Amino acid sequence: MLKRILILIEHQQNRQMLSQSLAQDYQVLSPEVKEDFVVVGEQMLSEDFDLCFIDFGAIYYLRAKMEARREAESPIFLPFVFLTTLKDVGLSTDHLEQLIDDLIYLPIRKIELRTKLRVLLRSRSSSLGLQAAQLKLKEALIQEQDLNQLKSRFVSIVSHEFRNPLNSISGMAQIFELYGDNLPPEKKAELLQQLQRNVSKMTNLLDNVLVLGRKDMGKLEFNPASLNLKIFCRDLIAEVQTVFEHKQTVNFAYQGEQEFNLDSKLLHPVLTNLLSNACKYSPKDSAIDFEVSCQTEEIVLAIRDRGIGIPAADIPNLFNSFYRASNSQGFQGTGLGLAIAKEYIELHQGAIAVSSEPKVSTSFVITIPVKTTTNKST
Ligand code: ADP
Repeated sequence: MLKRILILIEHQQNRQMLSQSLAQDYQVLSPEVKEDFVVVGEQMLSEDFDLCFIDFGAIYYLRAKMEARREAESPIFLPFVFLTTLKDVGLSTDHLEQLIDDLIYLPIRKIELRTKLRVLLRSRSSSLGLQAAQLKLKEALIQEQDLNQLKSRFVSIVSHEFRNPLNSISGMAQIFELYGDNLPPEKKAELLQQLQRNVSKMTNLLDNVLVLGRKDMGKLEFNPASLNLKIFCRDLIAEVQTVFEHKQTVNFAYQGEQEFNLDSKLLHPVLTNLLSNACKYSPKDSAIDFEVSCQTEEIVLAIRDRGIGIPAADIPNLFNSFYRASNSQGFQGTGLGLAIAKEYIELHQGAIAVSSEPKVSTSFVITIPVKTTTNKST
Protein backbone atom coordinates (compact mmCIF):
# COMPACT_ATOMS: atom_id res chain seq x y z
CA MET A 1 0.00 0.00 0.00
CA LEU A 2 1.25 3.49 -0.86
CA LYS A 3 2.55 5.50 2.06
CA ARG A 4 0.57 8.63 2.84
CA ILE A 5 2.51 11.87 2.97
CA LEU A 6 0.92 14.97 4.46
CA ILE A 7 2.23 18.32 3.25
CA LEU A 8 1.50 21.16 5.65
CA ILE A 9 3.45 23.89 3.94
CA GLU A 10 2.08 27.41 4.08
CA HIS A 11 4.28 28.65 1.26
CA GLN A 12 2.30 27.86 -1.89
CA GLN A 13 5.18 27.45 -4.34
CA ASN A 14 7.15 25.15 -2.05
CA ARG A 15 4.02 23.14 -1.36
CA GLN A 16 3.27 22.59 -5.03
CA MET A 17 6.83 21.72 -5.87
CA LEU A 18 7.06 19.15 -3.08
CA SER A 19 3.71 17.71 -3.94
CA GLN A 20 4.72 17.22 -7.58
CA SER A 21 7.98 15.53 -6.74
CA LEU A 22 6.28 13.04 -4.42
CA ALA A 23 3.07 12.31 -6.33
CA GLN A 24 4.56 9.46 -8.35
CA ASP A 25 5.73 7.34 -5.44
CA TYR A 26 3.39 8.27 -2.62
CA GLN A 27 -0.18 9.13 -1.82
CA VAL A 28 0.10 12.85 -1.20
CA LEU A 29 -2.27 14.80 1.02
CA SER A 30 -1.64 18.39 0.15
CA PRO A 31 -4.51 20.68 1.09
CA GLU A 32 -4.91 23.85 -0.97
CA VAL A 33 -4.65 26.36 1.82
CA LYS A 34 -5.07 30.11 1.65
CA GLU A 35 -6.24 32.19 4.59
CA ASP A 36 -7.68 29.16 6.45
CA PHE A 37 -4.28 27.43 6.91
CA VAL A 38 -4.83 26.84 10.65
CA VAL A 39 -8.31 25.32 10.28
CA VAL A 40 -7.33 23.07 7.37
CA GLY A 41 -4.01 22.16 8.99
CA GLU A 42 -5.63 21.11 12.26
CA GLN A 43 -8.11 19.01 10.34
CA MET A 44 -5.42 17.31 8.26
CA LEU A 45 -3.34 16.50 11.33
CA SER A 46 -6.17 14.24 12.51
CA GLU A 47 -6.04 12.26 9.23
CA ASP A 48 -4.19 9.02 8.69
CA PHE A 49 -0.63 9.69 7.38
CA ASP A 50 2.85 8.19 7.59
CA LEU A 51 5.01 11.30 7.37
CA CYS A 52 4.35 15.02 7.46
CA PHE A 53 6.23 17.91 5.87
CA ILE A 54 6.02 21.21 7.70
CA ASP A 55 7.45 24.66 7.24
CA PHE A 56 7.94 27.67 9.44
CA GLY A 57 4.22 28.64 9.12
CA ALA A 58 3.05 25.21 10.25
CA ILE A 59 5.39 25.26 13.23
CA TYR A 60 4.18 28.68 14.19
CA TYR A 61 0.44 28.01 13.87
CA LEU A 62 0.05 24.27 14.39
CA ARG A 63 2.69 23.32 16.95
CA ALA A 64 0.21 22.34 19.69
CA LYS A 65 -1.79 20.12 17.35
CA MET A 66 1.39 18.50 15.98
CA GLU A 67 2.56 17.72 19.51
CA ALA A 68 -0.83 16.27 20.39
CA ARG A 69 -0.78 14.06 17.30
CA ARG A 70 2.71 12.80 18.11
CA GLU A 71 1.60 12.06 21.65
CA ALA A 72 -1.47 10.20 20.43
CA GLU A 73 0.61 8.10 18.01
CA SER A 74 3.33 7.28 20.57
CA PRO A 75 5.12 4.87 20.85
CA ILE A 76 4.77 4.51 17.07
CA PHE A 77 7.19 6.71 15.14
CA LEU A 78 5.43 9.39 13.08
CA PRO A 79 8.08 11.51 11.34
CA PHE A 80 7.76 15.27 10.88
CA VAL A 81 10.17 16.81 8.36
CA PHE A 82 10.95 20.51 8.42
CA LEU A 83 11.37 22.25 5.09
CA THR A 84 13.48 25.37 5.57
CA THR A 85 16.23 27.52 4.20
CA LEU A 86 19.60 27.22 5.85
CA LYS A 87 19.51 30.79 7.14
CA ASP A 88 15.97 30.49 8.60
CA VAL A 89 16.47 27.34 10.58
CA GLY A 90 17.74 29.11 13.69
CA LEU A 91 14.81 31.53 13.70
CA SER A 92 12.09 28.95 13.63
CA THR A 93 11.61 27.93 17.23
CA ASP A 94 13.17 26.80 20.47
CA HIS A 95 13.51 23.08 21.09
CA LEU A 96 13.07 22.35 17.41
CA GLU A 97 14.55 18.89 17.87
CA GLN A 98 11.57 17.88 20.02
CA LEU A 99 9.15 18.67 17.26
CA ILE A 100 10.85 17.41 14.12
CA ASP A 101 12.70 14.31 13.02
CA ASP A 102 14.65 15.71 10.11
CA LEU A 103 15.33 18.82 8.05
CA ILE A 104 15.34 19.36 4.32
CA TYR A 105 16.95 22.56 3.11
CA LEU A 106 15.56 24.65 0.33
CA PRO A 107 16.16 24.56 -2.58
CA ILE A 108 15.26 20.87 -2.52
CA ARG A 109 17.73 18.39 -3.92
CA LYS A 110 15.79 15.42 -5.21
CA ILE A 111 18.30 12.78 -4.19
CA GLU A 112 18.41 14.09 -0.64
CA LEU A 113 14.61 14.26 -0.46
CA ARG A 114 14.16 10.71 -1.75
CA THR A 115 16.80 9.22 0.53
CA LYS A 116 15.62 10.93 3.68
CA LEU A 117 12.05 10.03 2.95
CA ARG A 118 12.89 6.36 2.46
CA VAL A 119 14.92 6.18 5.65
CA LEU A 120 12.22 7.85 7.71
CA LEU A 121 9.43 5.75 6.21
CA ARG A 122 11.45 2.61 6.86
CA SER A 123 11.71 3.58 10.50
CA ARG A 124 7.98 4.19 10.57
CA SER A 125 7.29 0.74 9.04
CA SER A 126 9.60 -0.94 11.57
CA SER A 127 7.89 0.88 14.38
CA LEU A 128 4.47 -0.17 13.08
CA GLY A 129 5.68 -3.76 12.70
CA LEU A 130 7.04 -3.74 16.21
CA GLN A 131 3.76 -2.42 17.55
CA ALA A 132 1.80 -5.12 15.68
CA ALA A 133 4.14 -7.80 17.05
CA GLN A 134 3.71 -6.43 20.56
CA LEU A 135 -0.06 -6.49 20.19
CA LYS A 136 0.06 -10.09 18.96
CA LEU A 137 2.25 -11.04 21.88
CA LYS A 138 -0.13 -9.33 24.29
CA GLU A 139 -3.09 -11.14 22.72
CA ALA A 140 -1.27 -14.46 22.96
CA LEU A 141 -0.50 -13.78 26.62
CA ILE A 142 -4.12 -12.89 27.35
CA GLN A 143 -5.25 -16.01 25.51
CA GLU A 144 -2.89 -18.11 27.54
CA GLN A 145 -4.11 -16.52 30.75
CA ASP A 146 -7.71 -17.11 29.67
CA LEU A 147 -6.84 -20.68 28.80
CA ASN A 148 -5.20 -21.23 32.17
CA GLN A 149 -8.20 -19.74 33.93
CA LEU A 150 -10.47 -21.91 31.84
CA LYS A 151 -8.41 -24.96 32.73
CA SER A 152 -8.60 -24.29 36.46
CA ARG A 153 -12.33 -23.60 36.21
CA PHE A 154 -12.72 -26.81 34.27
CA VAL A 155 -10.86 -28.83 36.86
CA SER A 156 -12.62 -27.29 39.85
CA ILE A 157 -16.13 -27.43 38.35
CA VAL A 158 -15.85 -30.87 36.84
CA SER A 159 -14.27 -32.40 39.93
CA HIS A 160 -16.86 -30.75 42.17
CA GLU A 161 -19.74 -31.82 39.96
CA PHE A 162 -18.40 -35.37 39.82
CA ARG A 163 -17.77 -35.60 43.53
CA ASN A 164 -21.39 -34.92 44.53
CA PRO A 165 -23.03 -37.74 42.56
CA LEU A 166 -20.10 -40.04 43.30
CA ASN A 167 -20.49 -39.43 47.03
CA SER A 168 -24.17 -40.24 46.94
CA ILE A 169 -23.61 -43.33 44.78
CA SER A 170 -21.02 -44.52 47.26
CA GLY A 171 -23.39 -43.77 50.18
CA MET A 172 -26.16 -45.76 48.54
CA ALA A 173 -23.83 -48.67 47.86
CA GLN A 174 -22.99 -48.72 51.56
CA ILE A 175 -26.69 -48.71 52.51
CA PHE A 176 -27.24 -51.67 50.18
CA GLU A 177 -24.23 -53.48 51.58
CA LEU A 178 -25.26 -52.98 55.20
CA TYR A 179 -29.05 -53.15 55.04
CA GLY A 180 -29.77 -54.42 51.54
CA ASP A 181 -31.53 -57.59 52.67
CA ASN A 182 -33.74 -55.79 55.13
CA LEU A 183 -34.81 -52.82 53.03
CA PRO A 184 -38.51 -52.69 52.12
CA PRO A 185 -39.06 -52.94 48.34
CA GLU A 186 -40.34 -49.34 47.98
CA LYS A 187 -37.22 -47.97 49.77
CA LYS A 188 -35.05 -50.10 47.50
CA ALA A 189 -36.85 -48.76 44.43
CA GLU A 190 -36.43 -45.18 45.66
CA LEU A 191 -32.71 -45.68 46.28
CA LEU A 192 -32.23 -47.27 42.89
CA GLN A 193 -33.99 -44.33 41.26
CA GLN A 194 -31.72 -41.89 43.06
CA LEU A 195 -28.75 -43.96 41.96
CA GLN A 196 -29.97 -43.80 38.39
CA ARG A 197 -30.37 -40.01 38.63
CA ASN A 198 -26.84 -39.58 39.89
CA VAL A 199 -25.46 -41.79 37.16
CA SER A 200 -27.31 -39.76 34.53
CA LYS A 201 -25.98 -36.52 36.04
CA MET A 202 -22.45 -37.85 35.61
CA THR A 203 -23.11 -39.15 32.13
CA ASN A 204 -24.60 -35.80 31.23
CA LEU A 205 -21.56 -33.96 32.50
CA LEU A 206 -19.22 -36.28 30.65
CA ASP A 207 -21.26 -35.84 27.47
CA ASN A 208 -21.00 -32.08 27.80
CA VAL A 209 -17.25 -32.21 28.28
CA LEU A 210 -16.96 -34.47 25.23
CA VAL A 211 -19.06 -32.02 23.20
CA LEU A 212 -16.68 -29.23 24.17
CA GLY A 213 -13.77 -31.29 22.89
CA ARG A 214 -15.53 -32.05 19.61
CA LYS A 215 -16.48 -28.39 19.23
CA ASP A 216 -12.86 -27.29 19.69
CA MET A 217 -11.79 -29.74 17.01
CA GLY A 218 -14.56 -28.51 14.69
CA LYS A 219 -16.11 -31.96 14.71
CA LEU A 220 -19.70 -31.25 15.70
CA GLU A 221 -22.11 -32.86 13.30
CA PHE A 222 -25.47 -31.60 12.08
CA ASN A 223 -27.85 -34.30 10.85
CA PRO A 224 -31.34 -32.93 10.32
CA ALA A 225 -34.26 -35.29 9.76
CA SER A 226 -38.01 -34.98 9.71
CA LEU A 227 -39.31 -34.28 13.20
CA ASN A 228 -42.72 -33.60 14.72
CA LEU A 229 -41.75 -30.67 16.89
CA LYS A 230 -44.95 -30.56 18.93
CA ILE A 231 -44.69 -34.20 20.04
CA PHE A 232 -40.97 -33.79 20.59
CA CYS A 233 -41.51 -30.82 22.93
CA ARG A 234 -44.30 -32.56 24.87
CA ASP A 235 -42.16 -35.66 25.45
CA LEU A 236 -39.26 -33.51 26.48
CA ILE A 237 -41.30 -31.64 29.11
CA ALA A 238 -42.43 -34.94 30.62
CA GLU A 239 -38.85 -36.19 30.63
CA VAL A 240 -37.48 -33.06 32.32
CA GLN A 241 -40.15 -33.24 34.97
CA THR A 242 -39.36 -36.84 35.88
CA VAL A 243 -35.63 -37.08 35.32
CA PHE A 244 -34.73 -33.76 36.88
CA GLU A 245 -37.01 -34.11 39.86
CA HIS A 246 -38.51 -30.65 39.34
CA LYS A 247 -42.19 -30.31 39.76
CA GLN A 248 -42.92 -26.82 38.42
CA THR A 249 -45.89 -26.48 36.14
CA VAL A 250 -44.87 -25.99 32.54
CA ASN A 251 -47.44 -24.02 30.53
CA PHE A 252 -46.90 -25.33 27.04
CA ALA A 253 -48.37 -23.50 24.05
CA TYR A 254 -47.77 -24.56 20.46
CA GLN A 255 -48.79 -22.68 17.36
CA GLY A 256 -48.36 -23.46 13.70
CA GLU A 257 -46.87 -26.25 11.59
CA GLN A 258 -45.39 -29.29 13.26
CA GLU A 259 -43.17 -31.21 10.84
CA PHE A 260 -39.71 -29.81 10.30
CA ASN A 261 -36.26 -30.86 9.26
CA LEU A 262 -34.32 -30.56 12.50
CA ASP A 263 -31.57 -32.40 14.30
CA SER A 264 -33.33 -33.84 17.35
CA LYS A 265 -30.04 -35.06 18.82
CA LEU A 266 -28.94 -31.45 19.06
CA LEU A 267 -32.29 -29.89 19.95
CA HIS A 268 -32.91 -32.33 22.78
CA PRO A 269 -30.02 -31.25 25.03
CA VAL A 270 -30.63 -27.57 24.20
CA LEU A 271 -34.27 -27.56 25.26
CA THR A 272 -33.62 -29.92 28.16
CA ASN A 273 -31.00 -27.54 29.47
CA LEU A 274 -33.19 -24.45 29.07
CA LEU A 275 -36.17 -26.13 30.71
CA SER A 276 -34.20 -27.63 33.56
CA ASN A 277 -32.44 -24.28 34.15
CA ALA A 278 -35.84 -22.57 34.23
CA CYS A 279 -36.88 -25.07 36.92
CA LYS A 280 -33.58 -25.04 38.78
CA TYR A 281 -33.32 -21.27 39.06
CA SER A 282 -36.92 -20.59 40.06
CA PRO A 283 -39.10 -21.38 43.11
CA LYS A 284 -40.76 -24.78 43.22
CA ASP A 285 -44.25 -23.26 43.21
CA SER A 286 -43.70 -20.95 40.22
CA ALA A 287 -44.76 -21.71 36.66
CA ILE A 288 -42.67 -21.96 33.52
CA ASP A 289 -43.96 -20.83 30.12
CA PHE A 290 -42.81 -22.75 27.10
CA GLU A 291 -44.16 -21.26 23.88
CA VAL A 292 -43.43 -22.49 20.40
CA SER A 293 -44.61 -20.59 17.39
CA CYS A 294 -43.85 -21.80 13.91
CA GLN A 295 -44.17 -19.31 11.11
CA THR A 296 -43.47 -19.79 7.44
CA GLU A 297 -39.81 -19.05 7.66
CA GLU A 298 -38.81 -19.54 11.24
CA ILE A 299 -39.52 -21.40 14.44
CA VAL A 300 -39.48 -19.39 17.64
CA LEU A 301 -39.13 -21.28 20.91
CA ALA A 302 -39.40 -19.22 24.09
CA ILE A 303 -38.89 -20.45 27.64
CA ARG A 304 -39.69 -18.07 30.46
CA ASP A 305 -39.41 -18.56 34.19
CA ARG A 306 -40.15 -16.41 37.21
CA GLY A 307 -36.98 -17.10 39.14
CA ILE A 308 -33.80 -15.50 40.41
CA GLY A 309 -33.05 -13.81 37.06
CA ILE A 310 -29.61 -12.93 35.71
CA PRO A 311 -27.68 -9.75 36.63
CA ALA A 312 -27.18 -7.50 33.59
CA ALA A 313 -23.37 -7.62 34.02
CA ASP A 314 -23.37 -11.40 33.50
CA ILE A 315 -25.47 -11.45 30.34
CA PRO A 316 -22.64 -10.79 27.82
CA ASN A 317 -20.62 -13.80 29.08
CA LEU A 318 -23.47 -16.19 29.67
CA PHE A 319 -22.83 -18.34 26.59
CA ASN A 320 -19.11 -18.80 27.35
CA SER A 321 -17.99 -22.24 28.54
CA PHE A 322 -17.92 -22.60 32.33
CA TYR A 323 -19.40 -19.16 32.88
CA ARG A 324 -21.88 -18.95 35.74
CA ALA A 325 -23.75 -15.80 36.79
CA SER A 326 -22.76 -14.10 40.04
CA ASN A 327 -26.06 -15.08 41.71
CA SER A 328 -25.76 -18.80 40.92
CA GLN A 329 -24.01 -19.84 44.15
CA GLY A 330 -26.03 -22.43 45.94
CA PHE A 331 -27.26 -23.96 42.68
CA GLN A 332 -25.38 -26.90 41.23
CA GLY A 333 -24.11 -26.42 37.71
CA THR A 334 -21.14 -26.31 35.41
CA GLY A 335 -21.76 -23.35 33.11
CA LEU A 336 -21.55 -25.66 30.11
CA GLY A 337 -25.19 -26.04 29.06
CA LEU A 338 -25.68 -22.62 27.47
CA ALA A 339 -22.32 -22.69 25.67
CA ILE A 340 -23.33 -25.98 24.09
CA ALA A 341 -26.87 -24.76 23.40
CA LYS A 342 -25.48 -21.82 21.43
CA GLU A 343 -23.26 -24.10 19.34
CA TYR A 344 -26.13 -26.48 18.58
CA ILE A 345 -28.53 -23.70 17.63
CA GLU A 346 -25.92 -22.12 15.41
CA LEU A 347 -25.51 -25.47 13.64
CA HIS A 348 -29.20 -25.01 12.72
CA GLN A 349 -28.27 -21.49 11.42
CA GLY A 350 -30.36 -20.17 14.28
CA ALA A 351 -29.78 -17.85 17.22
CA ILE A 352 -30.38 -17.91 20.94
CA ALA A 353 -31.04 -14.78 22.99
CA VAL A 354 -31.62 -14.08 26.64
CA SER A 355 -33.38 -11.30 28.51
CA SER A 356 -33.82 -11.10 32.22
CA GLU A 357 -34.90 -8.98 35.12
CA PRO A 358 -33.14 -10.07 38.30
CA LYS A 359 -35.47 -11.55 40.91
CA VAL A 360 -38.38 -11.32 38.47
CA SER A 361 -37.99 -13.38 35.31
CA THR A 362 -35.71 -14.83 32.65
CA SER A 363 -36.54 -15.61 29.03
CA PHE A 364 -34.51 -17.57 26.52
CA VAL A 365 -35.67 -17.26 22.92
CA ILE A 366 -34.41 -19.50 20.14
CA THR A 367 -35.08 -18.70 16.50
CA ILE A 368 -34.39 -21.24 13.79
CA PRO A 369 -34.93 -20.58 10.10
CA VAL A 370 -36.85 -23.49 8.55
CA LYS A 371 -38.80 -25.01 5.75
CA THR A 372 -41.68 -27.26 6.80
CA THR A 373 -41.43 -30.84 5.51
CA THR A 374 -45.23 -31.24 5.15
CA ASN A 375 -48.24 -28.98 5.51
CA LYS A 376 -50.00 -31.07 8.13
CA SER A 377 -51.10 -29.64 11.45
CA THR A 378 -53.17 -31.15 14.28
P1 ADP B 1 -25.32 -24.32 34.73
O1 ADP B 1 -24.97 -25.77 34.70
O2 ADP B 1 -24.43 -23.53 35.64
O3 ADP B 1 -26.78 -24.07 34.99
P2 ADP B 1 -25.65 -23.19 32.04
O4 ADP B 1 -24.62 -23.07 30.98
O5 ADP B 1 -26.87 -23.93 31.72
O6 ADP B 1 -24.89 -23.80 33.28
O7 ADP B 1 -26.02 -21.72 32.47
C1 ADP B 1 -24.99 -20.78 32.69
C2 ADP B 1 -25.39 -19.81 33.80
O8 ADP B 1 -26.49 -19.00 33.36
C3 ADP B 1 -25.93 -20.49 35.06
O9 ADP B 1 -24.85 -20.88 35.90
C4 ADP B 1 -26.77 -19.39 35.66
O10 ADP B 1 -25.96 -18.49 36.36
C5 ADP B 1 -27.33 -18.67 34.44
N1 ADP B 1 -28.70 -19.12 34.08
C6 ADP B 1 -29.04 -19.92 33.06
N2 ADP B 1 -30.38 -20.06 32.98
C7 ADP B 1 -30.89 -19.33 33.98
C8 ADP B 1 -32.23 -19.06 34.43
N3 ADP B 1 -33.28 -19.58 33.80
N4 ADP B 1 -32.38 -18.22 35.48
C9 ADP B 1 -31.30 -17.67 36.09
N5 ADP B 1 -30.01 -17.89 35.73
C10 ADP B 1 -29.81 -18.72 34.68
